[in-house]
Amino acid sequence: MAALLLIVAAGSGTRLGRPEPKGLVPLAGRPLLSWTVDAFRPGRFSRAVVTAPPDRLEAFSRVVGDFGRVVAGGETRAASVRRGVEALAPGDDDIVAIHDAARPFVSAEEVLAVLRAAEEIGAAIAAVPVVDTIKRVADGRIVETVDRSTLYGAATPQAFRASVLRRAIASGEEATDEAALCEKRGDPVAVVPVSRRTFKITTPEDLELAEAILARRQR
Ligand code: C5P
Repeated sequence: MAALLLIVAAGSGTRLGRPEPKGLVPLAGRPLLSWTVDAFRPGRFSRAVVTAPPDRLEAFSRVVGDFGRVVAGGETRAASVRRGVEALAPGDDDIVAIHDAARPFVSAEEVLAVLRAAEEIGAAIAAVPVVDTIKRVADGRIVETVDRSTLYGAATPQAFRASVLRRAIASGEEATDEAALCEKRGDPVAVVPVSRRTFKITTPEDLELAEAILARRQR
């Protein structure tokens, strides 16, 4: 059994309002993707693949260096995952961890906990317990208040036994994560609670928060 890593970084990051793709956006003086790659070093992974926007393969390869292979992503996250898994070519019993490039602050302990749970259950995701009171809304009016005690925000890494992941993505269905495809098939997916630091850098405010976290670390 080997553990393989797929970092998906082929998104445009339009919600950040920057001209460059999100992986190349400067964060504390370095491309965002380089912080994410560092979060997985020194690795317990025997191979790594990073999906990148097809027209920026060279720039992404410079950031990734000898950490892994850069391949062109697809139109959607799901399509990028399919291409990345193809490039990783895992054996059926290998564990494949999929991580959003936009989440640079995952810890080594969290990664390990997700890998262990995936080995045991077949699939596992990092997830953050919901802290806000959640309202379902229609036409600007509250419809109901949802019991948050059972709610989690799905994060990454998400790790799968390769045979389970292949079955999940074989349908070619689009989902915002691969866990959703496992659920549809009835395959069990373990949930590993992780820190809110695993947040996905999506908006300019997220980038400000990330800068503040790194400024504090470097003090
Ligand atoms: O779009 P979303 O925020 O869900 O993207 C999550 C991750 O998936 C990001 O790291 C992004 O770079 C990646 N992605 C991708 N290919 C796409 C769209 C998103 O690799 N076509």
